Amino acid sequence: MRNPILVIGGGISGITTAIEIAEVGHEVVLVEKLPYLGGKVIKFHEYFPKLCPPYCGLEINFKRIRENPRIKYFTSSTIEKISGDKGDYQAVIRHEAQMVNNNCTACGACVDVCPVERENEYNYGLDKTKAIYLPHELAFPFKFTIDENACKKQACSKCVEVCDYNAIHLNAIPATTDLKVSSLVFATGWEPYDANKLEILGFGKHPDIITNVMFERFTAPNGPTGGKLLRPSNGETPQNVIFVQCAGSRDENHLPYCSAVCCSASLKHALKVREKNPEAKARIFYIDLRVTGRNEDFLNKVKEDEGIELIKGKAGKIEIENNEIYVIAEDIASGRRLKTKADLVVLATGIVPSAVESIENGTEGFLDQLQNGYIASGCAKRPMDVSASLKDATAAALKAIQL
Ligand SMILES: Cc1cc2nc3c(=O)[nH]c(=O)nc-3n(C[C@H](O)[C@H](O)[C@H](O)COP(=O)(O)OP(=O)(O)OC[C@H]3O[C@@H](n4cnc5c(N)ncnc54)[C@H](O)[C@@H]3O)c2cc1C
Repeated sequence: MRNPILVIGGGISGITTAIEIAEVGHEVVLVEKLPYLGGKVIKFHEYFPKLCPPYCGLEINFKRIRENPRIKYFTSSTIEKISGDKGDYQAVIRHEAQMVNNNCTACGACVDVCPVERENEYNYGLDKTKAIYLPHELAFPFKFTIDENACKKQACSKCVEVCDYNAIHLNAIPATTDLKVSSLVFATGWEPYDANKLEILGFGKHPDIITNVMFERFTAPNGPTGGKLLRPSNGETPQNVIFVQCAGSRDENHLPYCSAVCCSASLKHALKVREKNPEAKARIFYIDLRVTGRNEDFLNKVKEDEGIELIKGKAGKIEIENNEIYVIAEDIASGRRLKTKADLVVLATGIVPSAVESIENGTEGFLDQLQNGYIASGCAKRPMDVSASLKDATAAALKAIQL
């Protein structure tokens, strides 16, 4: 008998690592800081290269987790402390106050009476939820959660009064679990680069300058517009959409590395613009188009579409004149400086590693050179797409078992 393996981060990489470990017979504990599993992938409507909904695969994985007694998972939890050495670590897991327990049936009676609204981080602040909310309609575990900072707690208690299942306890407090573990896998993934730092590209100066992750939510049927691609400024359908590649990436002032997935993501998004409105035009300004493997077929599909223009040239500036947006870029092929009007601009912001406290970071904060026997998996290690994350997660599982 050995101690369980601890996997930190419940995105596609962490889920895959945990399942692979458990299915060969080892105990595993999966810890996720958000109230649901699935990471960034669950927020996509469709994912390349096949453009299928990620929920199909995730649902199978959730079933494998539910049915495997060797997997224990904790959501709304983080790691407070790790000590010990290779093969014999001690971890302290911190669980946020569980104000909604597993009696919750997600009936929604609490939402109807909750008087407080808060920004919905699932949709990158593009809409609001009540202080008690279901993170999204496919959430696993499927139960409501409470935003501790927004909730008025005992000063209100309306949700407690209407709950027929004794599921809400507003006086719940955080708890910890001490655990001895034999291996540690960091699958903590990525966050989008903060577009507010890209002042020259106008983010925050006009509502119709958005980021690629916001675009994903605008095209998702469970997103803030019910899947309609609309200009945030006036709710109209955009006719002329510009994608600005390397918004932050491959830039010494921001992220000196390539974020690896943004080119394929913008190709996917440009096709989506055309699918939503065949009259609309999409232009992609790029330094190099970095698409490999099966995503190259995807690039060919874009090239065949007359409504999509691929322009080699980095967009250096975005100007707002009389409330209109102009993208300034050099067209490398013609050597001309272009000033192109757009009614929606999508900044292909890069990937930054999620912060992981208490361990030494590798290059650029990605956990690619871990000491002390720690193992990294997926985008915690470096930017990669889902297909590469799955392979990396399986490799991490094998390493964790072998340690
Ligand atoms: C705009 C955009 C579109 C994309 N579209 C596609 C696509 O169509 N197809 C494709 O193959 N790839 C796509 N990708 C890439 C894809 O998002 C990644 O490959 C994938 O998210 C990697 O999964 P992951 O589990 O490594 O990381 P994540 O999805 O980031 O998951 C990490 C998880 O760890 C949790 N976590 C973080 N820190 C802690 C902590 N300290 N404690 C506990 N939990 C923690 C997070 O909450 C999260 O749930 C896209 C990327 C971008 C930017």
